[in-house]
Amino acid sequence: MNEHASSQTEPKADARSLRFGESWDYAPAPESVKVEIAEKYGHYINGKFTTPTKTTKFFGSINPSNEKVLCKVTQGTKKDVDKAVDAAKSALTGWKRLSGKERGKYLYRIARRIQERARELAVLESMDGGKPIRESRDVDVPLAAQHFFYHAGWADKLKYAFPNRDPQPVGVCGQIIPWNFPLLMAAWKIAPALACGNTVVLKPAETTPLTALRLAEIFDECELPAGVVNIVTGDGATGQALAEHKGLDKLAFTGSTSVGKKIAAAAAERDIPCTLELGGKSPNIIFDDASIDQAIEGIISGIYFNQGHVCCAGSRLFVQESVLDEVIRRLEWRMKSLRVGDPLDKNTDVGAINSKAQLATINRYLKIGSEEGAEVHVPGGGEVPAKGYWCRPCFFTGVQQSHQIAREEIFGPVLAVMSFRTPEEAIQRANNTPYGLSAGIWTDKGSKMFELAGKLKAGVIWCNTFNRFDAASPFGGYKESGFGREGGMQGLRGYVKF
Ligand code: NAP
Ligand code: MG
Repeated sequence: MNEHASSQTEPKADARSLRFGESWDYAPAPESVKVEIAEKYGHYINGKFTTPTKTTKFFGSINPSNEKVLCKVTQGTKKDVDKAVDAAKSALTGWKRLSGKERGKYLYRIARRIQERARELAVLESMDGGKPIRESRDVDVPLAAQHFFYHAGWADKLKYAFPNRDPQPVGVCGQIIPWNFPLLMAAWKIAPALACGNTVVLKPAETTPLTALRLAEIFDECELPAGVVNIVTGDGATGQALAEHKGLDKLAFTGSTSVGKKIAAAAAERDIPCTLELGGKSPNIIFDDASIDQAIEGIISGIYFNQGHVCCAGSRLFVQESVLDEVIRRLEWRMKSLRVGDPLDKNTDVGAINSKAQLATINRYLKIGSEEGAEVHVPGGGEVPAKGYWCRPCFFTGVQQSHQIAREEIFGPVLAVMSFRTPEEAIQRANNTPYGLSAGIWTDKGSKMFELAGKLKAGVIWCNTFNRFDAASPFGGYKESGFGREGGMQGLRGYVKF
């Protein structure tokens, strides 16, 4: 047993502390802010929300924690996409002619307004997508504001980002985003595009369109010129209509690898630039000299927070064999204290699965894992609410590299635990995947960190931490996890031409 592990003691049973494997009972702490939601929403095109006609079709956006329809949202047609692209084209000349300083002012204004409306945005995000309010309040919304602040700073300094060149906007950008970080993904895409002088047509995911529509309200409040950002809601067909639109000068997509390939083909056909942020099956590697308790927190935040709906989730755990039992024991103990339930309760750690379809996918993998011969562990007890889509955090042991649960992205709170003996074996097994989005290394030795980080094929590598984000830090993947970077100076490259 290593030095760190032996110095850590399990909680003692006494009148005040937990017995091993028990958790405290908190009083509910429901979010008190009430959010107004209209009955129906139109698209946001050319600075206005569209009004429905007789032929307009709507779909319901559901609250996955209770299956109630929150509101009706417009199903975007090809005509709607045409109008949005036309608006973005008309706005382009004026927007790119503005000085960087003036564009930056708009972005600063938007960032500040996101901060002012932060609580409302966080509540809405949790209602529409099922993620715990703690996550949307402390991660999604502040980071969304940060991306606008950060890119506001670049708007008048682009020539310093690309010395000796003359960076020009690419033009009209079609942007398609997924449901796991709806507001944050919108900010990741829109902020750099606007900073570089482009205009945008964005399609949010079908299950989580509401915060993007609130962002449209914010653009309106900030008097962003009409047509600079247009938001068209709808399902995959609307996404396809946007991706295939002849009026676009660039495509940016975040989502699954399978749809990403279609987007890449659509871009290649018209020879327009394209950036893709796709799926992952990221490894978290724990060496026997690591601080085990610290690593356990990293594993927990890496796969269980946000219900595992994180593209860079640490969904494969590789533990050095000598500490495998120790890690599993501590992981089980920590997982018993995770609270699954109402996303709007401030004590909730794990919220609702985003949709019925995603829950079915996760359950299918749980069945496959057991059939493949792995053993599932579901340490947490207690009831989950009767209505809504829920999955208890769990992990598999006895996993082989060839198992489907070790190779394919599950996108739920499901971890595949495996072991290794030497650093070489850890690198070889961690890289044995078609993906390459992120990786985590847990060790006390700096030399080991650098050695491994240089050999792991992943776009982002965290050492003794996991899932940390910053607008100044580029994010993106290797191999089937996509190409191009978002965030940081490198992220600007996708939105300029020379
Ligand atoms: P998805 O099915 O690929 O959907 C992503 C977006 O594309 C949604 O807006 C979707 O609309 C739309 N879409 C679906 N079919 C389309 C088509 N044929 N043409 C154009 N657009 C289409 O992915 P998802 O299930 O929503 O999201 C989960 C995936 O995203 C995971 O694989 C995850 O790893 C990945 N992800 C990656 C990152 C990253 O930065 N690398 C970040 C977040 C998520 P609908 O909503 O109507 O389906
Ligand atoms: Mg929803």
